[in-house]
Amino acid sequence: MTEASLSHPSGEPAKLDSAAIEQFETLIGKQHCLTAPADVDPYCHEWRDKFFGKTGLVLKPGSVDEVSAIMKLAHDQNFAIVPQGGNTGLVGAQTPDSSGDQIILSMERLDKIRSIDPGSNVAIVEAGVVLERLQSAAEEVNRLFPLALGAQGSCQIGGNLSTNAGGTSVLAYGNMRDMVLGVEVVLPDGRVMNCLRTLRKDNTGYDLKHLFIGAEGTLGIITAASLKLYPRPCDQQVAIFAAESPEKAFALFSLARAHSGSMLTGFELMPRMGVEFAIRHASGVRDMMESPYPWYCLVELSIGSPAVDGRALIEAIFEEAFEAGHVVDAVLAESRQQAADFWHLRHGMSEVQKHEGGSIKHDISVPVSAIPAFLARAIPACEAAIPGCRPVPFGHMGDGNLHFNISQPVGADREAFLARWEEINSMVHAIVIDMGGSISAEHGIGTLKRDHLPEVKDPVEMDIMRQIKRLFDPKGLMNPDKLLKSDRLSDQDIKK
Ligand code: FAD
Repeated sequence: MTEASLSHPSGEPAKLDSAAIEQFETLIGKQHCLTAPADVDPYCHEWRDKFFGKTGLVLKPGSVDEVSAIMKLAHDQNFAIVPQGGNTGLVGAQTPDSSGDQIILSMERLDKIRSIDPGSNVAIVEAGVVLERLQSAAEEVNRLFPLALGAQGSCQIGGNLSTNAGGTSVLAYGNMRDMVLGVEVVLPDGRVMNCLRTLRKDNTGYDLKHLFIGAEGTLGIITAASLKLYPRPCDQQVAIFAAESPEKAFALFSLARAHSGSMLTGFELMPRMGVEFAIRHASGVRDMMESPYPWYCLVELSIGSPAVDGRALIEAIFEEAFEAGHVVDAVLAESRQQAADFWHLRHGMSEVQKHEGGSIKHDISVPVSAIPAFLARAIPACEAAIPGCRPVPFGHMGDGNLHFNISQPVGADREAFLARWEEINSMVHAIVIDMGGSISAEHGIGTLKRDHLPEVKDPVEMDIMRQIKRLFDPKGLMNPDKLLKSDRLSDQDIKK
């Protein structure tokens, strides 16, 4: 098949007028179709107000059949659909364009936990279930659903799957892709593909579920998933260690890993600047040590057996790290509340930056051992480009993934600072690529990084991705222009 024969057969997606809206209202009931500007507005921008769009219609289906009927109608009449979960994504992938014609498909009413089986360690949940609710449901049957991230009170399982979310437990449990046994998907033409298997072993050909994980809603609507549950640890030890440099923090990581193996379930890096922001702006956060230190590592151990003394283990890690000069101080959580407070500090690290003016963000990964070398190159490069800027690199050091964020200089003009976003991104990403890293470790591509994708991916890989998109969505109606440019634009994209 040629490139041309795969492109959108009828040009632009259809315009959304009142006659079209009525057809969707007939499918799912007027009360589940939002059209008033005040009602649709919260779905059209995200919490940081970085991405804005417009829509004339937000649909809130309550069943898989309703999703299927919506998709069939949209497919037949060329309406573009933007799937949306908790609207916490950070790359603009859940936001419609400015035409007002793209329809938002909100998954919030598909929120049933269909079954939870502690014997097989499997939960079958609908896409609109909020992550925190699944964590609690697993706890009620003495199991763990380990995905954990700052937005867990709002983000949904469908969004977690579609972004292949990472978070703070990847070190031990992997990212969302590693926790999935099966998915149920409504395809762009309305067909329901049921791969909702719960098997641990199933070698029966291509494993299609993985195409939808991390696809950012560009191939279909995930309506449900079967997810792995894990044993609950009988003890957790959480501590914050102070280190004088990223090299020392990495030495601590290596030591902690060698001592505790798979019991090391979290290793997060925070710079002093981020902790100061948190002390200034987050509720209930205060300095946890008597003196300030340049870097802090949040370390979590999860103990699976009562035969292991978790407290003794974390104390031994501290003593050895202190004697070796890797760390200069530490606070071990004395209670579950104090452990939660330490995580509150870490999870609030994105939010507090908002109060310090503009922030230019990166979500990068490099090989784990290269984190100190990356910081040694990227921090001075940013400081030289924007004197007085305040780097706040924090995050999942144990996975080689940092949110390398740069806050504006104190008193600088916010807009002028943010106008340098692309320039600073290009400079930092060049360092990342040079070190064999990724420009999007866990947040995805969306519209934010879409145009950079062809620069960092193998051309053959890009070509296969476009072919997969065309196979599932030949009309280019599924979350158009997210992740990949639409078919009707892709010839230019290919020539770039
Ligand atoms: P949305 O933002 O609504 O959508 C995200 C993408 O998924 C869009 O492309 C959308 O079209 C698609 N989508 C949503 N639901 C479906 C569906 N049912 N079927 C098909 N496509 C769908 N992310 C991390 O990985 N790690 C972190 O540590 C992390 N920390 C965060 C901290 C904060 C404070 C915030 C605000 C965000 C953080 N994120 C993090 C980003 C975000 O929370 C995740 O990407 C999350 O998985 C998005 O879920 P959501 O339900 O909000 O999806």
